[in-house]
Amino acid sequence: MNPIKSIFIFIFLYPFSLISQNDSIQIRKIHDLALTNSSCYSWLEHLCLQIGGRLSGSTNAQKAVDYTAKELKNLGIDVIKQPCKVPHWERGKKEVVNMIVGNRKTLLHACALGNSIGTNGKELKAEIIEVGSLDALKNIDASLVKGKIVFFNGAMNPIYIETFRAYGESVGQRYIGPAFAQKKGAVGVLVRSMTTEHDIYPHTGAMKYDTAYPTIPAIAISTLDADLMSKNLKSGKVTCSIQSDSKMLTPVDSYNVIAEIKGSTFPEEIIAVGGHLDSWDTGQGAHDDGAGCVHSMSVMELIKQSGYKPKRTIRCVLFMNEENGTMGAKAYAEASNKNKEKHIAAIESDEGGFTPRGFSIDAKDEVIEKHIATIKKWEKILAPYYLTIDRGGSGADIDALKNQGGAMIGFKPDPQRYFTLHHTAEDTFDKINKRELELGAAAITSLVYLLDNYGL
Ligand SMILES: [Zn+2]
Repeated sequence: MNPIKSIFIFIFLYPFSLISQNDSIQIRKIHDLALTNSSCYSWLEHLCLQIGGRLSGSTNAQKAVDYTAKELKNLGIDVIKQPCKVPHWERGKKEVVNMIVGNRKTLLHACALGNSIGTNGKELKAEIIEVGSLDALKNIDASLVKGKIVFFNGAMNPIYIETFRAYGESVGQRYIGPAFAQKKGAVGVLVRSMTTEHDIYPHTGAMKYDTAYPTIPAIAISTLDADLMSKNLKSGKVTCSIQSDSKMLTPVDSYNVIAEIKGSTFPEEIIAVGGHLDSWDTGQGAHDDGAGCVHSMSVMELIKQSGYKPKRTIRCVLFMNEENGTMGAKAYAEASNKNKEKHIAAIESDEGGFTPRGFSIDAKDEVIEKHIATIKKWEKILAPYYLTIDRGGSGADIDALKNQGGAMIGFKPDPQRYFTLHHTAEDTFDKINKRELELGAAAITSLVYLLDNYGL
């Protein structure tokens, strides 16, 4: 190479290569620490096995608040509990749903949807009418629905590699399907579980009533039971009997847990990372979203362990009540806007503790291209860890911070097994792979480090 050319390369490329070399060393260090010295797996073990399902308003949810606040405090950082009022729904006794065809009775695998009423100690018995989507129900004459149980049987589309897209397209049946059925005079709702699997596990999840109409019980059934019911309906009349004890109680005082390391140079610029502390009652909330909580706690631990001094304020937020109300997210955004805070970025981990694949970026229209361009530049530094950056959704708890102009970022682990477990009794600690969980903590901490080092 001629000497003039090499001097040119040295002068113009040296500063960049120095920066990226330092970054590579820092990110390697974060991964080394996460894989050898992180508390995330043992924190999650405690949340799942010592506490268990953490439904909003329950004693377990409060235990999770106290436990995570104590563990974060033990890292030697500032921790507060931010009050929020949350709905308090209880499942009560195990639901009983029987399918009756002629004089054959089959007990189905069923669980009430979150926020649903029960059957008041009685047995609700009515004929089934099947629909494949919300639109299909909209187009049926109310006289055909009145007095019946609406059975939503639209399956999640299996062709998407990004399974969250299939969930997004189908979940309306569960969330607002009961409200559509109320309007048509139905007496109850059964919903095919939101999963790509064919198995016996019912998947719960939030639903919302239309307050202008009488409320009706809403229950999920397993996909195998849904297939069987649909098959029976093809050859004639099917009746179901439902007994459910679930009920909505009065709202309860609860908390978000917030921990913070103040920035040394730009303390007013906040980088938040979070998950949600509440979970459904049927399982242990291991992947949804114990994993996201311990990922976020790990960011604080890994920053401390690595000796890195953040320029910007790094905040860990464990949100309460994502599952059936997002009251924690509302309280956090309200306080943040009132205090005129500036989140330059917020990262949510709420897609499980599986192998990290990358991040998806969302922001206000005016800044989205700029933010994506900046963050996309770091893809090279993250490439050895198989992490990619794409445009996409962030998370239910941080969405309300978008108006502050920062980048709202969703952590994207591999999505193929998430909906096998999501909102079921199977979402338990034994389904967590320690190494995958730790790699997730390292991936998020690495992005937090880059955001802090360069800003947006
Ligand atoms: Zn979740």
